[in-house]
Amino acid sequence: MTGSLLVLNTGSSSIKFQVFALGRDGPERRLKGLLDGIRVHPHLEVKDEAGTVLLDKDLGDHAENVGAAVEHVLTFLQDALDDGGLVAIGHRVVHGGRRFEGPARITAETLAEIEALVPLAPLHQPNSIAPIRTIQALRPDLPQVACFDTVFHRGHAELADRFAIPEALDREGVRRYGFHGLSYAFIAERLRELDPELAGGRVVAAHLGSGASLCAIQEGRSIETTMGFTALDGLPMGTRPGRLDAGVILYLMQQGWDAKKIERMLYHECGLLGLSGVSNDVRELKASQDPRAGFALDYFAHRIAQETALLATSMGGIDGFVFTAGIGERSASIRANVAKRLAWLGMALDDEANGADAPLISSTDSRIVVRVIPTDEEAMIARQTLKVLDLG
Ligand code: ADP
Repeated sequence: MTGSLLVLNTGSSSIKFQVFALGRDGPERRLKGLLDGIRVHPHLEVKDEAGTVLLDKDLGDHAENVGAAVEHVLTFLQDALDDGGLVAIGHRVVHGGRRFEGPARITAETLAEIEALVPLAPLHQPNSIAPIRTIQALRPDLPQVACFDTVFHRGHAELADRFAIPEALDREGVRRYGFHGLSYAFIAERLRELDPELAGGRVVAAHLGSGASLCAIQEGRSIETTMGFTALDGLPMGTRPGRLDAGVILYLMQQGWDAKKIERMLYHECGLLGLSGVSNDVRELKASQDPRAGFALDYFAHRIAQETALLATSMGGIDGFVFTAGIGERSASIRANVAKRLAWLGMALDDEANGADAPLISSTDSRIVVRVIPTDEEAMIARQTLKVLDLG
């Protein structure tokens, strides 16, 4: 099989993309690109696998929306790829609802079903749909596959996914779905390669990036996760509050806040930023002298430890813990802070290994094996896309 696979991860103002060459040994990463500043100052940067910048270009005002921006990416790739060009496209799609239990090839029917889920993720789902439509119009010959962030969590028991609200609302779809599923699916597969014994046990994985969640993974499968109906639940994040008494929202509405104002507050003004008043970035909080910055970091670690205990209860115990994503992979102090709070469960770190971001950071006398595993959602999308298209 020759040719390339394009993986698209589209947000409201940026498109991250990666190109994988198809070879006998599976997909091999060739390019990483970022088109950001859509609508404001669109800019395209492309690097090769070694990090060498191949293109760094302002696009003027010629990318007024996500669809137009995708066109720029396709044009660039048409010129750049000399190995038979694109043969397929894999998309990250935030919400697969109850309907999707695996990645799906895009057809008129599946696209309509993805669109029907927009009310469940009005901020994010349209960003996934726009590039699919643009590519259908420009390159109808290219097969496209949707890879969902919810799918890894689809096997949950009802106890994990129900809210204690009237059943009619549950039937309408008001229930827990969970997110970061592509990351957790990658972690579960990687753990099988690195530590098959642990992968067969009870593991809490912590995806700690600008969004943050935990997932209870038992024998490689998701049992329960901290994000719920939306990506607002669970842990505090860069700018989102995590778990919040629903009465707070009721109070704000009674004070005259409308949905837009509440949404802006919940998605952009809470979490580490709201707690510290300084920044949403762990690096800046670490460097700050402001006591509120230290409080925000402690709060984050405290909530991670609390939710870990909750997930351990769902699994009847815990054998391993995996840190991943920007903060999980790079912040030794957050990892140490979490471990300190879980010492009662038998978690202990090797300070030197932790300080070096080593793959195995638990001490030899720790009852819980603690690992740092870099996540790779794009590699997961590439694998799932090839499998659906029977190209893998
Ligand atoms: P996203 O969720 O946007 O994909 P990442 O997984 O890359 O983001 O995580 C981004 C976050 O990682 C940043 O907000 C920052 O707080 C944190 N981060 C990145 N590098 C470091 C570092 N060296 N030390 C501590 N935190 C870091």
